[in-house]
Formats: sequence, structure tokens, C-alpha cells
Amino acid sequence: MQTEGPLSKLLLAYQDPIQVYAEAGAHILHLNAQIGKMLRMESLGLWNCMACGEIFSSLFRMGCCKRCFFESPMAGDSILRPELSTAHLGQADRDLDYEARFQLQAHIVYLADSGGIKVGVTREAQRHTRWMDQGASRVRIIARTENRYEAGVIEVALKAGYSDKTSWRHMLGGMMTGINLKEEALRAFVLFPPEMKGFFVPDGEEIQLLYPAQGMPKVTSIKLADGNGFEGRLVGIRGQYLLLEGGRVFNVRAHEGAQVRWKLEG
Ligand SMILES: [Zn+2]
Repeated sequence: MQTEGPLSKLLLAYQDPIQVYAEAGAHILHLNAQIGKMLRMESLGLWNCMACGEIFSSLFRMGCCKRCFFESPMAGDSILRPELSTAHLGQADRDLDYEARFQLQAHIVYLADSGGIKVGVTREAQRHTRWMDQGASRVRIIARTENRYEAGVIEVALKAGYSDKTSWRHMLGGMMTGINLKEEALRAFVLFPPEMKGFFVPDGEEIQLLYPAQGMPKVTSIKLADGNGFEGRLVGIRGQYLLLEGGRVFNVRAHEGAQVRWKLEG
């Protein structure tokens, strides 16, 4: 079959193994069913800004056109740096209504194992989505806060002992440290700022995530530029990456907004 539309991030359903869907124009593609089959994707050379929806020949950053990257609350400071949140003070960065809805809700701080232990922050309600998007192998909640700012302050302190980035090569390699996350949570607690220690969760949720993918030790990343594309047999999906035979990988999220044509076998 063939269909086209702007790429948006893969929809990952929290099951064992994780089920993966892609929106493609009027269709929702169930990608687990395509594993083992040929996949072709062609760039149409146009990009939809994820914030304003207008069409451009390229986007600036984070799936946004240049204006939205600097003006839309979808690309505000607190998105990538939770500690810069100000809605709890009643102060707007770009749009207080949007920011209050986003920031003033329960957040969690977690440790994730993807071949290295990293610290992260996310809204509690969307934690599974976040962990699956990152391709984490194991995750444990170590703090639960009332808003985004508090979680961000804890994360900043924990950066003294942990990375806040996933190594995508380790992640796609299917690596795990095997470190005991319950014990690691106690080590992390030592780094909590004194005024945030009350948010520590000693018995936080801990889960393992199973992706429809084998570890891929050596990978090269495919970039979609105007008028090009790729073709190959889909061998797995992990996080936001499509894994093709021969170690080629395609980061769907990094291409959000790109208008593409999908060609699927069968
Ligand atoms: Zn825009």
C-alpha cells in the first residue's frame, strides 16, 4: 500500500511487546505487522510546522518553524529545561494558560537504564509514553512532585551524578547496565536538594520495556533531505527509531512535520 502525509512521532502502546503505530495521512499504520517486510519512504520536500501548521521548505528546530520556535509555548524554555518553569509563580514565559496546564500537574523524576543510567523528568500522566519514546530498557520512579519546576530542580541536582541524555547508540544496541535501580535510587537521594527530599519515593514504580527489536550494535543514521528517501527491510522498532536491515536507523521524531510518502509491502 501507499499513503502520504506529514510525519509525526510514532504512537507507542504500552504492551508486551510494545505496539507501534504511525499516522500517515488518512491512515494509521501498525508497524509491528510490517517487521520483516520492505519499507520505502520518500520525502516530498515540504514540512509542516507542528505548532502553526503552515508549510515550509524546511523547519527550524523541535518540529517548529523559526517564528514558532521563538514564540510558541510548545517550544518554550521549560520544555527542555523544566527548572525554568514559572507557572507556579503565576509568571508567563510565552503563554501562561498553556504553561499552567502543562506545568501545574504531577511530575516525576526517574532513572532510566538504556546502557547507561540517566535521569529524566516527565508528567506523571504520560510517563509510559515518555519512557517508550526514549527507548529505555528499564525505568524507576524516584520522586513525585506537584509541578514541573520542583521536578526540574531535583533533576538539575542529580546531573552531578547522572547524565540527562540517552546514548542513542547504546539504546539501539539494546544495552542495559543491569544496575539495581532500587539501590541506585537511594544513591540518587543523597544528591536531592534538602528542600526537595520530601518528594523522594523509596518504592517507586519500576518497569521493564520490551520493544519489537533486537539489539543493533552498529548503526548509521538516515537523514531525510529534500527529494530523497530510503528503502529497506524493516527489522525492528525501538523508541522513535525504525531499524532497517544493514544497521540503518531512522529517527522518526527528528523528522516530525516532514511530508513523506510511505510505501509498504503487503
Ligand atoms: Zn510555525
